[in-house]
Amino acid sequence: MSELDLNKPAGVLVKTTCVDFPGRVAGSFFLKGCNIRCPYCYNIGLVLEDSAYDSEPLSTVAELFAHLEKRQGILSGLVISGGEPILNPYTPVIIKKARELGYKIKIDTNGTLPEKLRALVENPELRPDFIAMDIKTTPSRYATLICGDKSPFFGKSDYFEKVLCESAEIVAAYPADCREWRTVLVPGLVTKEDITEMAKLLPQDASWQFAQFMNSNCLDPAYNDIYPYTDAEAGEIVEYAKSLIKGSSLR
Ligand code: SF4
Repeated sequence: MSELDLNKPAGVLVKTTCVDFPGRVAGSFFLKGCNIRCPYCYNIGLVLEDSAYDSEPLSTVAELFAHLEKRQGILSGLVISGGEPILNPYTPVIIKKARELGYKIKIDTNGTLPEKLRALVENPELRPDFIAMDIKTTPSRYATLICGDKSPFFGKSDYFEKVLCESAEIVAAYPADCREWRTVLVPGLVTKEDITEMAKLLPQDASWQFAQFMNSNCLDPAYNDIYPYTDAEAGEIVEYAKSLIKGSSLR
């Protein structure tokens, strides 16, 4: 019997998605818990442990498994996201069961936990089939812009330069069609200058997917007052990224 309670609310289940797992129709499970606090994060309910912040009903892992069994042969992939899923004790259990049912596994990670990522990748039973890694800004700016001043990582820019570089190398070792990097175009965090620095982490054949910032329900309420880039501004930044990494595009 598993030590984990599979009947405890654990994450948000998206029953079907055509956009989260390249080339597959998939289900997604967004697990609670994250090791960092991005000020623009709009998944507050997943990041903060207090259930008072839950904005959507949570499903149990048992409910996820029932869904995967029901949709066998219809869905071909499962996206395990968060929060930060590689921190979550349910992740190995979910990977094993979903794989047993014939699903391909994609993991979304924030890239700040290379040792845990390596342990997952090096375990044949748990190795994800596809990895998506976030890059939020220039690595040396994470320590002040991504972590609040109460974080133990605040001000430790060397730490983030090291862990992001290590994670990017682990992801880069995957075949090109089984990996991607993702960036939210938050004004102030992602400028052309940042793009120059961020691109240095990526292999030349990277798929670099950009998304527009949404200024609502942000973890740091001050970010609700920041206007997203206009389409023209976002397009210009992504065009610049494309000049450095050909596989850059705006989703
Ligand atoms: S954006 Fe992702 S990495 Fe950042 S706090 Fe939210 S869930 Fe965590």
